[in-house]
Amino acid sequence: MKAIVLENGKPTLKEVPIPRLAEGDVLVKMKACGLCGTDIEKICGQYTASQPILGHEPAGVVEESLFEGIRPGDRVFAHHHVPCYECYYCKNGSPTMCPYYRKTNLDPGGFAEYFRVPAWNVKREGILKLPDHVTFEEGSFIEPLATVVRAQRRVQLKAAESVLVVGAGPMGLLHVLNAKSLGVGQVMISDVSEYRLSFAEKLGVTAALNPTRHNVTEEVKRLTDGRGVDVSIIASGSPQAILSGLYSVRRGGKVLLFGVPFKGTILQYDVSELLNNEISLISSNAAVEEDTTEALRLISEGRIRVKELVSHVYGLEQFQEAVRVAKEGKAIKIVITD
Ligand SMILES: [Zn+2]
Ligand SMILES: [Zn+2]
Repeated sequence: MKAIVLENGKPTLKEVPIPRLAEGDVLVKMKACGLCGTDIEKICGQYTASQPILGHEPAGVVEESLFEGIRPGDRVFAHHHVPCYECYYCKNGSPTMCPYYRKTNLDPGGFAEYFRVPAWNVKREGILKLPDHVTFEEGSFIEPLATVVRAQRRVQLKAAESVLVVGAGPMGLLHVLNAKSLGVGQVMISDVSEYRLSFAEKLGVTAALNPTRHNVTEEVKRLTDGRGVDVSIIASGSPQAILSGLYSVRRGGKVLLFGVPFKGTILQYDVSELLNNEISLISSNAAVEEDTTEALRLISEGRIRVKELVSHVYGLEQFQEAVRVAKEGKAIKIVITD
């Protein structure tokens, strides 16, 4: 079968053997898999969290199953990381910090004709069946949307609050859509890319701010009676983005750290401001099965129309072209298909 593998740091389409199943494993034929910013970081050698396996947003059709309850022909989403649900972290509200969480993965990854879902994931509900009306492309949004669902739950976002999303990439835009589905009326967004901001405007943000043209903090304050937003969501890893969120949040507000900064990123910020203004910093990393289940429900019920975010679709053979377009920043969500 064909699969994208990293060869000396370069993504290369190679002929590799179809993974062999062990007891409890499931083999899935990939139909759609989103290209994530972290895939690009892995390709660029800048990813900081785990081993560089590419493709973690896959949906497809079960080809072979050694697990009771999942059968060939089932249309599914498969989650790449699944925690143990038994350790201290799992039992105390930090399942994505489970020592087993990042040890599990799809084999060889989601950018392959077929991938193996290990028994560990399968028996802990790491495979979700897609309702007939949910397309594979929509299924490929389950993982990224799940991380957004979990993050907004951690920051306890409420309908009456105002929000600034810093960064209008696909994750920032999923934050916009999820906030709107929660009933949040005032959702602002900032980004240096006019292309991305125009996309955000179509989703109905109340303000689309470009820091190269606006003073984002001043604009945000002007739109919130001088206070600043209740919640800043940082959907970018850049220190400027984090600072923009910190300066634009109201006294007593919350800053959600969501985009992963490059390793070694140092923030130039007067920490006394945090305490004097009672600003809470809350980070959120990845998602687990309650979140993927919720994400699928939101997509399935049409509460979040993820397909509006798809700007490009490429086949596996065009993977390098997809990476090139992603690096240029002239894309929102890129989906790789079979
Ligand atoms: Zn991702
Ligand atoms: Zn655990």
